[in-house]
Amino acid sequence: MQVYNAPLRDMGFVLNELHVDDGFGDLPHFAEITPDLTEAVLEEAGKVCRDVILPLNRIGDEQGSRLENGSVKTPPGYAEAFKVLSEGGWTSLAVSPEWGGQGLPHAVNNLVEEMLCSTNVAFSLCPGLTHGAAKAIEGYATRELAEKYLPRLVKGEWSGTMCLTEAQAGTDLGLLRTSAAPADDGSYRVSGSKIFITWGDHDLTSNIIHLVLARLPDAPPGVKGISLFLVPKFLLDENGNPGTFNNVLVRHTEHKMGINSSPTCQLDFDGSTGWLVGEPHRGLEAMFAMMNVARVGVGIQGLGVGEVAYQSAVWYAKDRVQGRSVNGTQRPDLPADPIIIHPDVRRMLMIMRANNEGCRMLAGWISRAIDAQYHGEDPAVVARATDFVALMTPVVKALFTDLGFETANLAVQVYGGHGYIRESGVEQFVRDSRIAMIYEGTNGIQALDLVGRKLPANGGRSLRTLFHPISAFIEENGGEGPLKPLVTALQQAFGALQLATGMIAERGLKDREEGSAAATDYLRLMGLVTVGYCFAKAAKISHAKLAEGAEDSAFYAAKIKTATFFFERILPQATACFLAIKAGKASMMAMTADEF
Ligand SMILES: Cc1cc2nc3c(=O)[nH]c(=O)nc-3n(C[C@H](O)[C@H](O)[C@H](O)COP(=O)(O)OP(=O)(O)OC[C@H]3O[C@@H](n4cnc5c(N)ncnc54)[C@H](O)[C@@H]3O)c2cc1C
Repeated sequence: MQVYNAPLRDMGFVLNELHVDDGFGDLPHFAEITPDLTEAVLEEAGKVCRDVILPLNRIGDEQGSRLENGSVKTPPGYAEAFKVLSEGGWTSLAVSPEWGGQGLPHAVNNLVEEMLCSTNVAFSLCPGLTHGAAKAIEGYATRELAEKYLPRLVKGEWSGTMCLTEAQAGTDLGLLRTSAAPADDGSYRVSGSKIFITWGDHDLTSNIIHLVLARLPDAPPGVKGISLFLVPKFLLDENGNPGTFNNVLVRHTEHKMGINSSPTCQLDFDGSTGWLVGEPHRGLEAMFAMMNVARVGVGIQGLGVGEVAYQSAVWYAKDRVQGRSVNGTQRPDLPADPIIIHPDVRRMLMIMRANNEGCRMLAGWISRAIDAQYHGEDPAVVARATDFVALMTPVVKALFTDLGFETANLAVQVYGGHGYIRESGVEQFVRDSRIAMIYEGTNGIQALDLVGRKLPANGGRSLRTLFHPISAFIEENGGEGPLKPLVTALQQAFGALQLATGMIAERGLKDREEGSAAATDYLRLMGLVTVGYCFAKAAKISHAKLAEGAEDSAFYAAKIKTATFFFERILPQATACFLAIKAGKASMMAMTADEF
């Protein structure tokens, strides 16, 4: 059974208690956004997601979106649900009021996004991509273009896509061939075929605004010759409404492992009219504005699916009775004990819980940095926030999606054979979460981005935005007291991360392949240490709250238990990552390609 109630208490903890001293400070821009207001927003969002979106998750999976006579039909209920979201302003929470958005912090928006991903990740991709497209247009399009397209994207009357991939150009966008020829009126004629375009066509909105990467006639080869174009499905008439069809043809939709209701389209642009967004040949820069929003968003997909998988598994583990406790019967009133009493089931539930709480804390941290990046007043804070977001984006994308998939998989294991059966609803989580490790740059590519670009950027300046708060925390909290075992474990793992960083930098100077060979383990090591730091902070706050006799003692006591589990049973993986990094590339690259 798919069980979901928004984890509002934990979300409130992350939003209002955990990161208040993270160095990004209070932002005057959000002075009116009080905890009472955000609590009400999150509570309402939780209801909409549970009552409107979740019931469509199974229908969407079973019926999928279908291509009929050249256009895509979504499953029953989707159009109505999208209307509820857009009319309720849920699709534009973090967009500036200048463009019709709600002007709330990303820290709030990302929690609502988590709820949407928990309740129907395939559906959530449509508003998610629309939000990303709006960010790219806001940041890079001319004012005239933005005025025509942004307000209706923000309102959810139209949706957005990102069109990068071509059959021969996946990870390597330098290979893309779609062309854009200038026309006399300042527009361009875009021609070429894009594959795998998420929500590339559908019947939820009256227009679809494609952001398309293409080459101008004089473009240099490779990634330095790519420009970005805004290409609507329907050209606008003189009143700004969708008019003439713009020759964006849906050739095919993919049959996939999961996210069945999210149409994945092959789109052929056949002399379609488009407008340049940003500078010629610098389209990737503009597209990255969208992709960075999207990468954090994809990370949140992992977390969202992980949360619903966890809640569904807890429900089952309390309901299903099998066997007796090895320490003696616990429920004599039942024919057997509920499986939640067995240590191995606990192991799974605790991993799932720690994965979710850990990722939620890190998501809260990067979200605050994103807000500081956009709205900070002190240039030093903005610079620090920008560095932190750049550094942590690949970690959030890859770590959360790896852990989300692990958590979904564990849910199936908790259900046993019943989990493998469609009816249980939990095998959908495995299928739906798998794609997040692949799109928006595979997790392997995220790790290469971290090691190859983010670590060396600005003489290692970005790294300091992470290392400084962790070392300050360890220094401050290493003394005797209940935190000591946690801080000691964090210190060891952090030491391993520092050593690994130096090792990669040094070896990489002699042989660049060494950095690439270490990248995935390094990203995981950094993720574990960062989540460890968040758990240690959470435990510190919780101990203080318990000592002062806080009303909500059960929440804080549980937080300490989860943190302790993380430190004792998950953080030790940091040592394995370190040893793998230390071993270097030799055994990985020893075989010739022919030997495989
Ligand atoms: C359901 C779905 C939805 C999608 N939605 C969109 C969308 O909306 N818009 C869009 O433009 N695209 C979309 N994509 C495409 C997606 O982003 C690509 O599939 C992804 O970027 C990987 O490209 P590829 O499939 O060509 O794999 P390849 O690039 O062929 O990679 C294959 C393997 O090789 C590895 N690899 C490749 N190059 C390197 C390298 N230099 N170093 C190390 N390893 C490397 C990869 O990590 C991967 O493991 C979607 C794909 C799917 C399946």
